[in-house]
Amino acid sequence: MANKIIGIDLGTTNSCVAYMMGDKSEVIANAEGNRTTPSIVYIKGDELLVGELAKRKAILEPKNVIYEVKRFIGKQYKEVKKEADAMPYDTKEGKDGGVLIVVDGKEYKPEQISAFILQKIKEDAEKFLGNAVTQAVITVPAYFNDSQRNATKAAGEIAGLKVERIINEPTAASLTYGESAHKEEKVVVYDLGGGTFDVTVLEIGDGAYQVLATAGDTMLGGANFDEKIIDRLVAGFKAKEDIDLADNAMAMQRIKDEAEKAKKQLSQTETVEISIPFITVGPDGQPRNLMETLSRAKFEEMSKDLIAAAKKPLEAALKDSGLKTGDINEVILVGGSTRMPWVKTQIKDVFGKEPKSTVNPDESVAMGAAIQGGIIQGDVSDILLLDVTPLSLAVEVEGGLAHVMIPRNTTIPAKKSNIYTTAQDGQAAVTIHVTQGERSMARDNKSLGNFNLDGIPAHMKRGQPQIEVTFDIDANGILHVTAEEKSTGKKQNVTIQGATGISDDEIEAAKADAEKFAEEDKKKKELIETKNRLETMVYQMEDLQTQYGDKVDVADKEAMQKLIDEAIEIKAKDEMDKETLDKEIERFSTEFQTLAQKYHAVAAEQPNESDMIDDNADDDGTVEAEVVDADDK
Ligand code: AMP
Repeated sequence: MANKIIGIDLGTTNSCVAYMMGDKSEVIANAEGNRTTPSIVYIKGDELLVGELAKRKAILEPKNVIYEVKRFIGKQYKEVKKEADAMPYDTKEGKDGGVLIVVDGKEYKPEQISAFILQKIKEDAEKFLGNAVTQAVITVPAYFNDSQRNATKAAGEIAGLKVERIINEPTAASLTYGESAHKEEKVVVYDLGGGTFDVTVLEIGDGAYQVLATAGDTMLGGANFDEKIIDRLVAGFKAKEDIDLADNAMAMQRIKDEAEKAKKQLSQTETVEISIPFITVGPDGQPRNLMETLSRAKFEEMSKDLIAAAKKPLEAALKDSGLKTGDINEVILVGGSTRMPWVKTQIKDVFGKEPKSTVNPDESVAMGAAIQGGIIQGDVSDILLLDVTPLSLAVEVEGGLAHVMIPRNTTIPAKKSNIYTTAQDGQAAVTIHVTQGERSMARDNKSLGNFNLDGIPAHMKRGQPQIEVTFDIDANGILHVTAEEKSTGKKQNVTIQGATGISDDEIEAAKADAEKFAEEDKKKKELIETKNRLETMVYQMEDLQTQYGDKVDVADKEAMQKLIDEAIEIKAKDEMDKETLDKEIERFSTEFQTLAQKYHAVAAEQPNESDMIDDNADDDGTVEAEVVDADDK
């Protein structure tokens, strides 16, 4: 099979990957057999676990388990300090103002952590597809700004993936929806995930997908609803027991898990009993339990600010699209958090109709990304996708104003030029400050970066230089800027990296780091698999010994026992390289085979019992080791 461009939904909470099988997109199950993978990473020394296995470590080693990094990717530390402080793992501000995650003294950028997740996804996809995977389409919330898009792209590159395209999650979901819808429709994609919220209005028809408007909130998602429950549980416990659990990382992790579980249950039932036994020990040395009953009505009341916050982008996107609620044919739900019953109520309130549930909210984004991969590869034709840029792009001008070059919801790719000039006589250089956002003052918007255009002739008076600034947004929604002084032809090209960008050198270094982890991981897995072979052998030796030990010669029985004891001893050793272990296994295997033949000979005389050993031995008596999944160890 030719190499496929896979589609990846790199979610805040869970990630999903899909590929094109013929003209249909299909989800790829991970190595554990699940269709989504928790976006969680565990790092300890040179051990790296991703997904379900990393999640399991959260209670015992909360400082080594990193989750929800999507909230920090491409963000400045000061923008997300509150969220970062609330994480059980350590974070700090990087030199460039970005977020750094600190694990056992080592610092990681959010894009590196995301790269670890992508690396697992890549490996699992390779295993599933049976060939190398080197290209991907990765999705981002529609409302992601330029820095967040660049950082996501960098994460892909660190993981060894050529990122063919960054596409918006709701747009991807609409491609999946469009796989089975053929009529002309105006649809709203309501995408509430683990950490972000997006609303996109699209017109679909005849293979054309035109995004009309998008709006969102990159800080609103399922985790905010979990926090409401967490806060209530902590406050309730404090009131009842006079014990503050906030600084007890292990207790907080258990509360977090239970809060999320309770929230999910409230999507099904009207009330939920939350019970966490032995959450802590009281001053009397006695264990304390946390018990609480929560009703759906109470939960919705506690979350009413969040529910109200969700309505804003919905109204904004509709307004920007120029459509009325009555024009909308369907509302498509995407993201696990749309399972909360208030979502349906809100949609019914606004549109007067129930949302559609034809697409799987957890999988449709990855499936749509795979379709986009198919389009790029040329396997899927007759689809035209026209997306928009979510936020206005501007240049800072005199008085600190943001002069908009490309307004939000402009169809991309897009290119726009404008002429600017100097504010003073003899000004030799200008600084071009690029911002993204809807506020009128540049400083209130997201700063994407500054660059200088120098060499302006000194004799020029204020207002004389003609500085043409060009903004070019590519299909990924990523901005490229050029500036040219027309009289001298002096030009400056910049790809805006964002205030917290990662340089090419840093990407290369991070890539080497990620590969090192993969190498270590591979070695560790091989060692575990080898140990498993030894374990299987021990099991078989013991089995023979139990059944026939008393029937063979005493010398053989003793020899077998010696072999068993040695093997157990070797198995228990932590420090052993694979080569030594391989040699030992070979020795055990040879000695065991010789002995096993004698046992088999005895067994053959007692046909009734022989069945039990043949299961594990080939005709020649060789023991076929069952390789236990390394992850089970
Ligand atoms: P996603 O990033 O799309 O995978 O969304 C994950 C988010 O959906 C997490 O915050 C989950 O807690 C949330 N979620 C998943 N299932 C449910 C459910 N049945 N009810 C409420 N929230 C859910």
